[in-house]
Amino acid sequence: MKTAEKKDLRSREEKRRAAAADTRPRTTLSFYRYVKIADPIAFRQRLLEKWSALDCLGRIYVATEGINAQMNVPVMYWNQFDAWVQQQPELKGVPYKIAVEEGELPSFFKLTIKVRPKIVADGLDDNSFDVTNTGEYLTAAQLNQYIDDPEAVVFDMRNNYESEIGHFEKAITPDDFVTFRDELKRTPEVLKDYKDKKVAIYCTGGIRCEKASAWLKYNGFKDVRHLKGGVIDYARQVKEQGLPNKFRGKNFVFDERLAERISDEVIATCHLCKETKCDTHHHCKNQICHTLFIGCPSCMEKKNGYCSWSCAQMDKLPAAYKKSVARWYNQIIRKRKPFQKTRLVQ
Ligand SMILES: [Zn+2]
Ligand SMILES: [Zn+2]
Repeated sequence: MKTAEKKDLRSREEKRRAAAADTRPRTTLSFYRYVKIADPIAFRQRLLEKWSALDCLGRIYVATEGINAQMNVPVMYWNQFDAWVQQQPELKGVPYKIAVEEGELPSFFKLTIKVRPKIVADGLDDNSFDVTNTGEYLTAAQLNQYIDDPEAVVFDMRNNYESEIGHFEKAITPDDFVTFRDELKRTPEVLKDYKDKKVAIYCTGGIRCEKASAWLKYNGFKDVRHLKGGVIDYARQVKEQGLPNKFRGKNFVFDERLAERISDEVIATCHLCKETKCDTHHHCKNQICHTLFIGCPSCMEKKNGYCSWSCAQMDKLPAAYKKSVARWYNQIIRKRKPFQKTRLVQ
C-alpha cells in the first residue's frame, strides 16, 4: 500500500536551513489511535491538505488500523488545528501528548504522511491473537506505586538506545533490544518468571504498549498494565500533580530534538571516549553512516562530528566514489559497530 509521494529532493541541510528560517514558535505533539480507517489513502490526502495549509511539520503514519502522528504546529494555528482535528470522526477526542520542551530548531523539518500496512512495525500477525484485549492503564501516580512495590515488575518496552539515556527507577531494560519487533518476540521469554506477578510496561507515548500488553496477556501474563500516554504524559502529570518524579535522565523522542530532559541526572556515557558522563545523541556527519551515537562535547570536537575515523575519511571521497563505498561500508564496517542504528522508528 504505497502512496505516490512527490519526492522532496532537498538535501537534509537545505531542509534544516528552511526550517531554521521559520522562527514562528511551534508546539510539538504526538498522538495515536487504533481506529478503523476504511480508505487510508483518502484519509491521508485530507490530512495532508489541511496540515500543509497550517504549516504543520511532522511524521505521520496512517493504516487501516489507525493513525500514529508525531508533529509540530505553529502556535498561531493551534486553535484551527485542534478545531479541525475534533471535527474528524476518526480523530475526535484523541488525547494529545504535548512535548515538555522545544528545541532551538523545529522538531521536524518537513511534513511526511505515509500510508503503511501498520502504524507501528511490530511484526505480529494481528489475526493470531486478540489485539483488542489490552492491559489496563496506569496513571503516573499508579506507576509510582508499582515502582515502590517490591512485588511489582516494571518493564521498559523501548529499544536499548532509548533506555540507555533514561528510564524509570528499578525498570528492567534489556540492553540488546534494537527494534520493537525483536523486543516483542523475546519479551515473554525474558519475563517468564513474572507471569503471575503485577507487571507494568511503558514506552515513549503509549502506542507500543497497546499492542505489547495484548501480546503479553495472550502469552499468559495475568496482570499486565501499561503507562497511559507513556513517559511524555508521565512528565506532564508529575509536574501538574506535584508527584515524585521516578524517571531518571532523558526521554528519547523520534524527532529532531532526539530527547526531552525529564530529570537532571545523566545516566549514560560517551560512546567514543567511554569515560565522560553524557546523554546527548548525535547522528554521524557521514550521511552513508548516519549512525546514532552518544558523543561528549570534547569527543564531538575532536572527531569533527563523525562517529569514527573511517567515517571522517569516507566523507572526504568524491561523490562519485561514495556509492560504491556505501555498499562495502554497510556490509562490513557497520556490523562491527556496537551502537548502530540508522532508521529511527518506534
Ligand atoms: Zn567522549
Ligand atoms: Zn559514522
